[in-house]
Amino acid sequence: MATGHLTIDLGALVQNWRTLDAMTACETAAVVKANGYGLGATRVADALAQAGARQFFVATAEEGAVLRRSLGPEPFIGIFSGHMEGDTPLLRDNDLTPMLNSVDQVLRHVESLPGRACGVQLDTGMNRLGLEPQDWSALREIVVGLGPTLVMSHLACADESDHQMNLQQLQTFREMTEGLSAPRSLAATGGLLLGRYFHFDLTRPGVGLYGGMPYEDALQTVHLTLPVIQTRVVEPGETVGYSNTWTAPVPSRIATVSAGYADGILRAAGNGLTLFSGGVPCPVRGRISMDLITVDITALPEDPPHLSLLGGGNTVDTLADAAGTIGYEILTSLGARYERTYTA
Ligand SMILES: *Cc1c(COP(=O)(O)O)cnc(C)c1O
Repeated sequence: MATGHLTIDLGALVQNWRTLDAMTACETAAVVKANGYGLGATRVADALAQAGARQFFVATAEEGAVLRRSLGPEPFIGIFSGHMEGDTPLLRDNDLTPMLNSVDQVLRHVESLPGRACGVQLDTGMNRLGLEPQDWSALREIVVGLGPTLVMSHLACADESDHQMNLQQLQTFREMTEGLSAPRSLAATGGLLLGRYFHFDLTRPGVGLYGGMPYEDALQTVHLTLPVIQTRVVEPGETVGYSNTWTAPVPSRIATVSAGYADGILRAAGNGLTLFSGGVPCPVRGRISMDLITVDITALPEDPPHLSLLGGGNTVDTLADAAGTIGYEILTSLGARYERTYTA
């Protein structure tokens, strides 16, 4: 079988949530948008719910509806994109809580779902989602009258602990929410790690649960092994792969493994990538193709049946660094073709 094997360690995921939860004195939600950062939203959320998570966030109402079917009626499900036109039946029928982001969304919610739960997102400087300070001043009384279940904002630079933007947004969030009785939330993974001033009543970690930076001590949740389809010896001067980008300097043994950029192994990672066999590094040679990667296995005593791309020496962030991106993008790009196994 030429299918890569992705093992998702739900035990490690749960441990990451517990460890992050233990760093705070407040509630810890779980962000499971984008299909649980690529790992499977319902599997991830079910495991975390069993471990005690009671609050979940996704980006869209459609994602929330899928989650509600799986989690049952109890847990809180918050929708970051708020209340969009056309969302009303989904929000109502699935008991989803939109984080209202704009004047339009507040009015839409008041008109179409009066009396139904909502939260509000404030923009404290990121300029992406949420009510601006002047809109908030104008609407504050109306929104408070709705009895919001959460008042939240999002940090732009929390992955850099000494970035001055963090304290600036903290100050703005404090000013904008002073005197409110609703629970408040500012921190995602990065903010949670910045310390207790950023925690308020609820933190909203995503990437840290899945083993990505900036949570350095995270347990890895994904292991990816790729079957070797064929091996060959190339002589000095011979080239490997599209556009002849690698020329063998010495006799080399090359393994061709089954996976490529169509499986989320970003072509930009190119020669910066190393696979592993029992801890022995095996560097990629030549271009990554759509379905194939050529790997130097000269260092191995014998031809391996498969090579490890994630978990056996690489983290999602090693892969991200090789491609000049972030672990989030590696996770959310994990291929649909892999055979997926979940372990507890
Ligand atoms: C994605 C997201 C999170 C989770 O962020 P991580 O950096 O993955 O922990 C939290 N809050 C909001 C508003 C988000 O968009």
